[in-house]
Amino acid sequence: QTKESGKNHYQFYSPQIDRDASSRLAMEAELRQALERNQLRLHYQPKVSLDSGRISGMEALLRWAHPELGMVPPSVFIPLAEETGMIESIGAWVLQEACAQSKRWENEGLPPLRISVNLSPRQFNSEDLIADIAQALIQHQLQPGVLELEITESTVTRNAEKAARVLARVQAMGVSVAIDDFGTGYSSLSQLKHFPINTLKIDRSFIADVTVNRANKAIVRAVVAMGKALGLNLVAEGVESDEQMQFLQSVSCNEVQGSYFSGPLPPREFAELLRQDEALLRH
Ligand code: C2E
Ligand code: MG
Ligand code: MG
Ligand code: MG
Repeated sequence: QTKESGKNHYQFYSPQIDRDASSRLAMEAELRQALERNQLRLHYQPKVSLDSGRISGMEALLRWAHPELGMVPPSVFIPLAEETGMIESIGAWVLQEACAQSKRWENEGLPPLRISVNLSPRQFNSEDLIADIAQALIQHQLQPGVLELEITESTVTRNAEKAARVLARVQAMGVSVAIDDFGTGYSSLSQLKHFPINTLKIDRSFIADVTVNRANKAIVRAVVAMGKALGLNLVAEGVESDEQMQFLQSVSCNEVQGSYFSGPLPPREFAELLRQDEALLRH
């Protein structure tokens, strides 16, 4: 508090705001160093095919292994990274690491599965995106078809012309695209059909009460039917129960992801899960 602010302003002094602002600044400074200090981690959550009952792919989910705070979830630091522009270097690291991990598993003899990486709006609109993707694929000698990018509807529709150009280049590279959290934005399938996309991930808010909420039941059924009619792959997010599984099976959804099968796992545990899944097939 400065002298100039005077007595009348004293009531506006808020230690809480100060603390929030300074902890934000501290976190920003620490996040800047997280990359070089090797504190970022990718965990992997399986996607399961409802046809085969087997693991069909995985989503890479970022965590920050902070020395004092422990595993910091992306909801805490991705917005900060997005605001400050740090997301561009962090996002490039995520692409690199996901491709590197995929190659390590291939070298360990595990089956080549689709690996999905989340892109933030800023990263999607970055000039470097296509080069970053190409660089990650080439460096780790990965087939482009193995890689999928997850982007939200609003990332695509906010600047539709630019998005269409970027998506066309991504598609030309042979990389797949999924629309993440579908249903939470203001876009519709009739809008999205103009873009070269491969997959729709139905947001978990629709799945949460899908077995008891008649409206969500109708919405999920309609989205699956329309999406499939448009040739898209349909994934349900946040599947936690047997009842949800049965409903999604009954409407012929393609894949499920959620704690019912497994939450996000560190690489070693994910590989273990994959090996168990493989063993099931052989027996
Ligand atoms: P998302 O892409 O929609 O990822 C799904 C989120 O749902 C993950 O949260 C996952 O752990 C959580 N989840 C999965 N199954 C269940 C379930 O059965 N129940 C419930 N309640 N939750 C479930 P997480 O890992 O905290 O990630 C949150 C968001 O952070 C992601 O949402 C994504 O938007 C963003 N994110 C994560 N990693 C990255 C990244 O590498 N780059 C960017 N730009 N964003 C990322
Ligand atoms: Mg995602
Ligand atoms: Mg999602
Ligand atoms: Mg979500």
